[in-house]
Amino acid sequence: LLRLEDVTVRFGARAALDGVGLDVAEHEIVCVLGPSGSGKSTLLRVVAGLQGMDGGRVVLGGRDQSGVPAHKRGVGLMFQDHQLFPQRDVAGNVAFGLRMHGVPRAEQALRVAELLDLVGLPGAQKRAVSALSGGEQQRVALARALAPRPRLLMLDEPLGQLDRSLRERLVVELRELFDELGTTVLAVTHDQGEAFALADRVVVMRDGRIAQSGTPLEVWRNPADEFVARFLGFDN
Ligand code: ATP
Ligand code: MG
Repeated sequence: LLRLEDVTVRFGARAALDGVGLDVAEHEIVCVLGPSGSGKSTLLRVVAGLQGMDGGRVVLGGRDQSGVPAHKRGVGLMFQDHQLFPQRDVAGNVAFGLRMHGVPRAEQALRVAELLDLVGLPGAQKRAVSALSGGEQQRVALARALAPRPRLLMLDEPLGQLDRSLRERLVVELRELFDELGTTVLAVTHDQGEAFALADRVVVMRDGRIAQSGTPLEVWRNPADEFVARFLGFDN
């Protein structure tokens, strides 16, 4: 479904992405791990069409995306800093993408209710987002990203601000939902446990490059180098 070829993004002299190649198959769930500043968010923004490239290609569903604007790419992106619309209530935020996609009103309301149940905020439709906690806002942002059922869903630290028990429950429910809908997912997380529970494949990034890509078990059993081993918490 998604192919990156030799993607390079520079900010000044520094390469945020340095010749990244990546394939994501239809229905695959890929988790991107890596230290702060390794290029994870930049990778998602390039695929979403929100960040220009200094070299390389992004191919989605067989089509080169150069010149294709973000809203025509058919991808959903949940930002790390969620960026909700403060002037809309919870339902208005979750339904935002649905209106753009021409989903009928009655179905919008149904889907909003379903998603709020899923993220553990049942009945929160009319609440003001400015009055929600950080974790609650994050769950609204997650529901908003899921709502249009994009062919490729990209999540940047979707559960980062949630407590452990909620995270553990949501990981299981998200995995079930993705399997049921056949959603292809590219998700950034700093939580290895989350990556290993959610992903068919994990990608470990270092300094704008992919240090290793493999199934969670492969990467766990056989880290490609000392960096990956250390990052995963092995001492040698
Ligand atoms: P984190 O885990 O902290 O979110 P990340 O892996 O998502 O980190 P990126 O946000 O992709 O990292 O940033 C990669 C590098 O590119 C960093 O060195 C960052 O400072 C730089 N960078 C990212 N966006 C910009 C920008 N708009 N202007 C200048 N430098 C940028
Ligand atoms: Mg980031």
